[in-house]
Amino acid sequence: MGDVLEFKRHWVWFFEEPVTCDYCLKETRGKVFEKMQSIVCSNCGEALLLIDDNTSYVLTVDFDDEGA
Ligand SMILES: [Zn+2]
Repeated sequence: MGDVLEFKRHWVWFFEEPVTCDYCLKETRGKVFEKMQSIVCSNCGEALLLIDDNTSYVLTVDFDDEGA
């Protein structure tokens, strides 16, 4: 009975506001599947961006700003 449901992976919306997909040019809030680090368009399924790249960029802290 649970065999069919297993195909549907658990996912969440990534963006609070819809963004425009670069591939299909439709708005999507970006789906993130469980255990996957990529955000995919809910329309065409293309990866919008990698969380890995984005996160490491955002988390860059200004350690160089010590001023000596
Ligand atoms: Zn798309």
